[in-house]
Amino acid sequence: LDPESLSKEFMAVVDFIADYYREVELFPVSSPVNPGYLRQLLPAAASTFSEPIGAVLDDIKSCILPGLTHWQSPNFFGYFPATASTAGLLGEILCGGLNVVGFSWVASPAVTELETIVMDWMARLLELPAAFLSPGDCGFGGGGVIHGSTCEAVVCTLAAARDRALSRPGSRGRIDRLTVYASDQTHFTVQKAAKLVGIPPANFRVIPTSAASGYGLTAGGVRSAMAADSANGFEPVYLCGTVGTTAVGAVDPLPELGEVATEFGVWFHVDAAYAGSACIFPEFRGYLAGVVKADSFSMNPHKWLLSNMDCCCLWVQSSAALVDSLSTKPEILRNVVDYKDWQIALSRRFRALKLWVVMRKIGAANLMEHIRSDVAMAKHFERLVEMDSRFEVSAERRFALVCFRLKPTAGGGADVNRRLLEAVNGSGRAFMTHAVVGGEFVLRFAVGATLTELRHVEAAWRLIQEKAGELLMMIRL
Ligand code: PLP
Repeated sequence: LDPESLSKEFMAVVDFIADYYREVELFPVSSPVNPGYLRQLLPAAASTFSEPIGAVLDDIKSCILPGLTHWQSPNFFGYFPATASTAGLLGEILCGGLNVVGFSWVASPAVTELETIVMDWMARLLELPAAFLSPGDCGFGGGGVIHGSTCEAVVCTLAAARDRALSRPGSRGRIDRLTVYASDQTHFTVQKAAKLVGIPPANFRVIPTSAASGYGLTAGGVRSAMAADSANGFEPVYLCGTVGTTAVGAVDPLPELGEVATEFGVWFHVDAAYAGSACIFPEFRGYLAGVVKADSFSMNPHKWLLSNMDCCCLWVQSSAALVDSLSTKPEILRNVVDYKDWQIALSRRFRALKLWVVMRKIGAANLMEHIRSDVAMAKHFERLVEMDSRFEVSAERRFALVCFRLKPTAGGGADVNRRLLEAVNGSGRAFMTHAVVGGEFVLRFAVGATLTELRHVEAAWRLIQEKAGELLMMIRL
């Protein structure tokens, strides 16, 4: 690593990325390549001798960019966004540049200490209950840790819940009797985590939701499922509530679910991977009422809070439960935070540095404005949908995700919305994804890519109308 050539090569890469952002709007949002395209373009073996960075960047331009779905395009409305920002990118560069490994406090004290501080900052921004803050602030033994993904956060909390339940007096100590509860809208990450921590797939309870409950869980549904299991000799162990479900952005009733969780002594996790970012904005904080009863809460700033991949914030009210499960050394023997015991891996990136740069360089007011403006654009899109009598909004919009479809009365048959999605995405001018809700195929339009402006939303809507018109005409012919 030669600091002199680093500066020069680094500038070449930064210029390349800046050009990418200048041009990204012009690229087809989704890639037209076929599986295996890249193998035909790249050599079969690694380079024997050093190549200049220019040659690598040329290949990225000619071989890699054409195979990308451009998540940073302002015309990207698929999945949930993976927001980027100059601050997030600079934070990533600093993290990679310093390249320290902060598995324990002693391995790199500032890595641990900054993470604790930044997680407290974020907790305060979200107005989380004091019990989730580090003990330095409230003395309760809670705190936050940064994981790479919600999936990791859920695996860790579920492992803690499992071990807490199995060691409880009165527990039969049988993992095959533990049951986990989620809704039919809960992200599959919870089901995967249950498998990973050894809970039999048959013990994963999927509680149905309906349009009547806004696709949210009901406390009654969860209570009856847990009561039936308890009566049949099972031990309810973990309940996941979601703020902002993946399919439609539904919100589970946290206060009521918290009460059920307390009643049955289960670990209550709240997954706000997407919509947690919105909860820094006063209008949305109400969705977190009830989180005080949760054992753990997670959200992904890499989705909607301008913090480039990857960054999942997880808070727990009892770090002891997490550490007892994930460490080989009892919590009682420690006096500093060793974040390796709050996660799966030993090694860990200095993600806190990125989040710190984002929070300082952008600032809370601008982060809130970013959320407000995305939600305003989504509201505008929703109004456009409502104004076209061929379409309908399929579920209540709560954040910046609009679910909609061509009405059955528009004609075109059962497959018409799938074909519309293919036509829109195939044009390369916009990109959306879909969900199946209440048995219906619906289109998801998620506003949030950092570069999206109102003109992109309006152009996407014109494209959707144009493709719908062509499709319906073709079907009628
Ligand atoms: N939970 C929800 C509600 C999500 O929408 C997603 C992804 O979109 C996840 C969890 C998975 O997050 P991750 O990719 O960080 O594991």
